[in-house]
Amino acid sequence: MLENIRVVLVNTSHPGNIGGAARAMKNMGLSRLVLVDPLDFPSHEANARASGADDVLASAQVVATLEEALVGTTVVLGTSARDRRIPWPLLDPRECGAKSIEEAARGGEIALVFGREHAGLTNEELQRCHFHVHIPSNPDFSSLNLGAAVQVLAYEVRMAWLAAEGQASKTEKVEVASVKSAELATSDEMERFYDHLEQSLVDIGFLDPQSPRHLMARLRRLYGRSSVNRAEMNILRGILTETQKAARGELHKRKD
Ligand code: SAH
Repeated sequence: MLENIRVVLVNTSHPGNIGGAARAMKNMGLSRLVLVDPLDFPSHEANARASGADDVLASAQVVATLEEALVGTTVVLGTSARDRRIPWPLLDPRECGAKSIEEAARGGEIALVFGREHAGLTNEELQRCHFHVHIPSNPDFSSLNLGAAVQVLAYEVRMAWLAAEGQASKTEKVEVASVKSAELATSDEMERFYDHLEQSLVDIGFLDPQSPRHLMARLRRLYGRSSVNRAEMNILRGILTETQKAARGELHKRKD
């Protein structure tokens, strides 16, 4: 299950933090590290701070954009040290651990996304996430070191995994949910849907590109918490295609 969970670090400036994150991951049994446009990697400092988790660094995937890092994911959890303007489904680290393991047990692919040391994640990046995770730190000093934040979440993932393993060995089988996550639409499919949705809303005059008023963010939040599966995605895309045709005056001729 732990192989289905990837840790994504966005635009990290200090290689030492990449090493610290790799060490925290390996301590907790996680191995999949994805680095989005790191400032300085590979680096001796990263290896020094990894103190033995060099294998995690060696197999780290380096990509240019968050979008690439999220290909194939079914649940994306984005971490944030503070509140943002648009409220989003929010989990604490314990719930994040439980959610990740529950999803992994169904065959889903999970991403835990961490932001830049100085600026965290942008609003746009946070809107790519299904859930936000906040470590309930001192409100007057809320921002943890990046490696420390990875440690807290990785620990909670491990605790949830150990609990699930204990349960599985007691009942001698892992429960398989009726809707398999493998059938859920992936993040990249959802992105194509959002593009199609946005274009359709412009076509029918519901969305004014000059004054979008967070409409797409609100719709992302709505669909993001719905666990849309492949069949439902096909229905939604079909509705959009027909809506666009109708807007162009190409209405379906009904038989009756
Ligand atoms: N100045 C930045 C802080 C970034 S800290 C800001 O205000 O957003 C670097 C990263 O560590 C964050 O993007 C997040 O991924 C993680 N992090 C730090 N403190 C956190 C907290 N209290 N809860 C969740 N994630 C946290």
